[in-house]
Amino acid sequence: MRLLIVEDEKPLQTALAKGFHKLEYTVDTASDGEEAVELFFSNTYTLVVLDLNLPKLDGMEVLREIRMDNKDLPVLILSARSEVEDKIAGFDEGANDYLAKPFHFGELEARVRALLRRNFKTADTVIEIGEVRIDTAAKRLFVSAREISLSKKEYGIVEYLCLRRGEAVRPTELIEHIWESEADDVFNSFKVHLSKLRKKLPDTFIRNARGHGYYVE
Ligand code: CA
Repeated sequence: MRLLIVEDEKPLQTALAKGFHKLEYTVDTASDGEEAVELFFSNTYTLVVLDLNLPKLDGMEVLREIRMDNKDLPVLILSARSEVEDKIAGFDEGANDYLAKPFHFGELEARVRALLRRNFKTADTVIEIGEVRIDTAAKRLFVSAREISLSKKEYGIVEYLCLRRGEAVRPTELIEHIWESEADDVFNSFKVHLSKLRKKLPDTFIRNARGHGYYVE
């Protein structure tokens, strides 16, 4: 899960990045509207947390740019402007949710999770596939009720595949959603994590659709 957090107040930006990072999300941050648009066009995000009052390019403008390119990406607006008109304008421009400042991090996190579930069409925080159970709120995985210890990247891969159950996902897409940097050895790193992960899961849980990527049935 790769999040883009757009917030110009540094302390808040840092706190949000740290908070989501701790919850095993991959996080990119932007401090103004132009940087946000640049990052949006150069990476693939699972969700955007967008402040409205931003230098260079207003949050509403950023949202318009995003929506011109991508209608489905969940966008949660964060704003000190609590006026109803702003909220309505945000929804009119295609925001999926709105949270007024100040807010509790727990509420933001819960709303982010709800948006992601909606986007992946999963109503529950717990995904059960055969003997595998994933608690996406606690970020824990169980096989036949036994908890399996996974690295952050291993967990990221299996969670993403389970959320996209039945669809083949290309390695490049998995890497974009789970890896923080695009280092040269990122593909090798992916292969290593995937192979370790597959050994910890039931045989054939993660399948390979030749030429199309990986999938969970
Ligand atoms: Ca601001």
